[in-house]
Amino acid sequence: MSLEDYHKAGKIAHEALEFGRELIRKDAKIVDVCNEVENRIHKLGGSLAFPVQVSCNEIAAHFCPLSDDETIFSDQLVNLDVGVHVNGFIGDNACCVDLGGSHKDFVKAAEEALKAAAEVLRIGVQVSEIGKEIENAIRNYGLNPIRNLSGHGLSNYNIHDAPQIPNYDNRDDVKLEKGMAIAIEPFATDGLGMVHEKGTPTIFSLTGRKSVRVGFVRDIQKEIESYNGLPFATRRLCSKFSPEKVSFAMKQFQQLGIIHEYPPLVEKNNALVSQAENSFYIDDEVICLTEKKQ
Ligand code: MN
Ligand code: MN
Repeated sequence: MSLEDYHKAGKIAHEALEFGRELIRKDAKIVDVCNEVENRIHKLGGSLAFPVQVSCNEIAAHFCPLSDDETIFSDQLVNLDVGVHVNGFIGDNACCVDLGGSHKDFVKAAEEALKAAAEVLRIGVQVSEIGKEIENAIRNYGLNPIRNLSGHGLSNYNIHDAPQIPNYDNRDDVKLEKGMAIAIEPFATDGLGMVHEKGTPTIFSLTGRKSVRVGFVRDIQKEIESYNGLPFATRRLCSKFSPEKVSFAMKQFQQLGIIHEYPPLVEKNNALVSQAENSFYIDDEVICLTEKKQ
């Protein structure tokens, strides 16, 4: 375990998130924002733990545009989620931007829930107690937490490790332990408080290895293998290979059963969703890895 790499990854993730927050403007092209934030991560010396995600309105998570997507931002509620790794040690953070200007309460609810959760973090705290704080803070704004999305443990090249950190009091008595790295991510909605998978996935991960015959497919496989199992977007592959080759190769991998898909996660009532997220290191003194240090 390298605490130094966690610190580096967290710092870069924070800087990239703040950089991206400023780029989210009405009429800005969504794919440009993703690309610019990803370029910034690389310039700062980090690697992508997952593609930069911009989930708008009823989409809670797991969305990023394809490389040829011309869509621009409008009066939306935008969740920007940025994950960075340094030698596999991950910093994961997210923020919500209210472009329409009439949903400040959504932004506040997620932020206050994250703050309330951070305050009860300590060695030995039950994860359900964290969830209870998140739920109460969100309900104070008259909104509902999303119950089937949760925070998570972070480990080397693994974004979603145990323990699960619920966004409500789920009675789970698992306790935080010294030396754990975790991400906490409250989601607030005025809908049902549940998401389901809906729409075409643009985010994938490689789950196995099979031999392929075609040369360029092998090159693309090699490229994806260099991500060490972390999620990627075909957009990233298209910066090195032609879109036709990428789509041919992806079809092959899918047929071989070595690709996992992450479809967009959409609120079940198609209601608006806001998000906030930070990563923490649990020690005698809990450290927020993705916040500006004094
Ligand atoms: Mn995240
Ligand atoms: Mn996360």
